[in-house]
Amino acid sequence: MAAQPVPHRIDLHSGVPYWLVRNGTNESYPSLNHDIRTDAAIIGGGITGALCAYHLCEAGIGAVVLDSRALASGSTCASTALLQYDIDLPMHELAKRIGIERALRSYRASAEALRSLIAIGERIGCKLDLRPSVQVASARSHVRALRREAELRMEHGFDVRFFAGPEEVSAISPLAGPAALRSELGAQVDAWRLTHALHTHAIATGAKIFAHTHVDHIERSTEGSTLTTRNGHRIQADFLIHAAGYETADILPSGAVSLHSTYALVSEAGTLEEPWHDGALIWETAHPYLYMRTAPEGRIILGGRDEKFRDPRLRDALLRKKTAALVDEFEERCAPLQFVPEFAWCGTFGETKDGLPIIDQVRDDPRSYFALGMGGNGITFSVIAAEVIREGILGRIHPAADLFRLGRL
Ligand SMILES: Cc1cc2nc3c(=O)[nH]c(=O)nc-3n(C[C@H](O)[C@H](O)[C@H](O)COP(=O)(O)OP(=O)(O)OC[C@H]3O[C@@H](n4cnc5c(N)ncnc54)[C@H](O)[C@@H]3O)c2cc1C
Repeated sequence: MAAQPVPHRIDLHSGVPYWLVRNGTNESYPSLNHDIRTDAAIIGGGITGALCAYHLCEAGIGAVVLDSRALASGSTCASTALLQYDIDLPMHELAKRIGIERALRSYRASAEALRSLIAIGERIGCKLDLRPSVQVASARSHVRALRREAELRMEHGFDVRFFAGPEEVSAISPLAGPAALRSELGAQVDAWRLTHALHTHAIATGAKIFAHTHVDHIERSTEGSTLTTRNGHRIQADFLIHAAGYETADILPSGAVSLHSTYALVSEAGTLEEPWHDGALIWETAHPYLYMRTAPEGRIILGGRDEKFRDPRLRDALLRKKTAALVDEFEERCAPLQFVPEFAWCGTFGETKDGLPIIDQVRDDPRSYFALGMGGNGITFSVIAAEVIREGILGRIHPAADLFRLGRL
C-alpha cells in the first residue's frame, strides 16, 4: 500500500455568490457515518464530481461522492456559468503551441462536450439556456488575429461569423469594439442547480452522495484505493477520481496550474427590459478579459478584473474596489447601459498555460484519475473529464484522452 497526497482546504470564494442566495438551502445530503465499498469513489461533489457520478451510474458503475463542504458550494456556486466551446487560447495560438491537429481536436472535443451537456440538461430536467457567444476585439491591434481565428474556424467547419467595424459589432454586442467573432454554439446555466440535478439523477441510478465528509488520507494498492475520512470512516474503491477542483493544485507538480483571483457581480433585477442581442454571452480578446451574460429577472452578470495572486485575504480586500472598477468599465464600454450591483463576490480561479484541462491517470496508478476543468470554460472541460474517465474505467479509450494529460505541463 502507498499513501497518496490529499488536497488541503483553501478559501475558494467570498462575498455573496448570487446562486446561493437565489437557490436557498433546499438541497441537503448526509455526511458519511459508516464504512462503505464502491466501484468508484469521487472526491469532490461540485459540477465535475456530479458529471462523473452521472456518467458512471449511466454506465452501470457504482459511485460514491464525498465532499468536505455542502454540495456545489465550492467554486461551482461562484461560477458565472457561461458555457462556451471557445477555449481561452484561440485555436490559431493553441496550434502554435501544440500543432494544428491537436488544437483542432481540442476545439472539437470542447464543442462536442457542450452539445453533450445540452442533451444531459434536457434529459435530467435542467435545460441549458442556448445562447451565441460573441468575442469582441478589445483593441484595433487585435482585429487581424481575430479575423484569422474566424477564418481558421470556418475552414474547419465551426459555425462562426466575423463582424468588422464598430457598427456591425454594436448590432450583435452591448460591448463596443472594432470587430467581433460570433460562435453560434453556446449556453448559460445556473451551475448550482445543474449540479444538484445531476446528483439527484445519479442517486436515482445508484450513486451515494455525502456532504461534509472530508477525505483525509488515501492508501492505494493494485486493487484500488482506501480512503479515510476526517471522522475515521473508510471507503474501499476499485477506482478513485480526484474531482476536488482548484484545491488539487497543491498536490500537482509545481507550475502545472496557476491560481488567480477573479471578481463577479450581478446587477439589480430589471436592469434589462429584455436580453440584449439574442442574449449573447460576451467576452473579449484582452487577457484577462471582461465578460458578461444575461440572467433571469432582467439581470446582468459581469466578471473579470482578475489578479495574478491567490491569497484570499488580499483578494477579498479588493472586492469593493473591483466592484466599482467593473461597474465603471461596463458603463463606459457598454453605454448607454447602466449597472447597479446587487451581488458581488470574488473567487479563486485556476488556469493552465495552454488553457486546457487536466484529465489523466494519476502517475503510477492506473486506477486513479484527475478530473480538473481549468480556465474560462472549466465546466465544458468537466464534461470531457467525466466522459474520458468513464471510458477509461470501462477499459476503452476516449478519442480526446491523449489531449489533456498532466505530463504536457
Ligand atoms: C468567479 C468565477 C467565475 C467562473 N465562471 C465560469 C464560467 O463562466 N464558465 C465556466 O465554464 N467556468 C467558470 N468558472 C470555473 C468553474 O466554476 C469551475 O471550473 C468549476 O466550478 C469547477 O468545478 P469543480 O467541481 O471541479 O470544483 P468545485 O466546485 O470547487 O468542487 C470541488 C469540491 O471538492 C471538495 N473537496 C476538496 N478537497 C476535498 C477533500 N479532501 N475531501 C472531500 N472533498 C473535497 C470541495 O469541498 C469542493 O466542493 C468560474 C469560476 C469562478 C470562481
